[in-house]
Amino acid sequence: MVSWLVTGGAGYIGSHVVQAFMSAGIEPVVFDNFSTGLEQFVPADVPCVAGDIRDPQQVISALINYDCVGVMHIAGYKYAGVSVQEPLETYSNNVTGTLSVLSAMDTVGVKYLVYSSSASVYGTPEVELVTEDYRCAPESPYGESKLIGEWLIQDLMRARPDFVGVCLRYFNVVGSGAKELYDASPHNLFPLVCDALSQGRTPKIFGDDYATPDGTCVRDYVHVADLATSHVAAAKALQAGEPLRRTYNLGSGNGLSVRQIMDAFVTATGIDFTPEVFARRPGDPDRIVADGSAAAADLDWKMRHSVEQMVSSAWEAWQHADFSLQK
Ligand code: UDP
Repeated sequence: MVSWLVTGGAGYIGSHVVQAFMSAGIEPVVFDNFSTGLEQFVPADVPCVAGDIRDPQQVISALINYDCVGVMHIAGYKYAGVSVQEPLETYSNNVTGTLSVLSAMDTVGVKYLVYSSSASVYGTPEVELVTEDYRCAPESPYGESKLIGEWLIQDLMRARPDFVGVCLRYFNVVGSGAKELYDASPHNLFPLVCDALSQGRTPKIFGDDYATPDGTCVRDYVHVADLATSHVAAAKALQAGEPLRRTYNLGSGNGLSVRQIMDAFVTATGIDFTPEVFARRPGDPDRIVADGSAAAADLDWKMRHSVEQMVSSAWEAWQHADFSLQK
């Protein structure tokens, strides 16, 4: 069986990718430092290396020991807002970490890379739907670090004709594909709403005076299991030598406001609440929605889950989990 190293494989997105790989007959090898990843997210029959991506020797050993053909590089510091206060930690994880993964791949001769990038490389777009060719103008160390990762990959592709990488720009990834896998991010909308509702508190809206139809921010929400399916497609396409773009948006083309998400939570949970409105959170763009048609053409990208399913699956997994938010 062919093996792929999944950095960050014990995290929320990584663990869904691991499941998708297993279903597709590709052997995942989890590589995670468990700073936010959880041991219980790693299936018992999946090889797991507890290591830090910033140490190239550890990555080299994992690539050699498990005879990996490719790397799915998902590990990273993912809190855009907090990255403004923690630029060094962000760059260390996302830039030094990516550099280290690439140098390990280069040393061992592993040629295929799928990289987790982010919508935050675009900053605040001035178009209805962002395509991959739209200008990049990140507004946080997080967005900058993801863009630098993309540049590193593109530079290595120019220097090593054998090496091929593809960057997947995630929009707002939500929901759960299995009730034992959940998002415990202490900074994102879905886990914060689930946390508030499960503790009898009122969910918060950060700003209702944006230039949007209902005044709350508009985002492009995608289901994590759909996202994972496209990672499998990307890995297979790379191995098959199919021509791919360097970057793909994983977004739905459908913008939803924070208030619309709150309404969906009322319906899914049966809890009749009115969210409290607070001040804007610094750095939040009014609206960011993707054109995902390139990924639809090349990476089996499709909205297989509705917004109702995104919300209800997130709520179900939250209730199933026995934990408190990671702070
Ligand atoms: N948000 C909110 N209340 C919360 C958490 C987030 O109103 O408790 C808003 C946030 O201001 C943004 C949207 O929900 O407009 C999505 O935020 P999230 O952090 O999930 O993702 P982002 O788009 O910032 O990456």
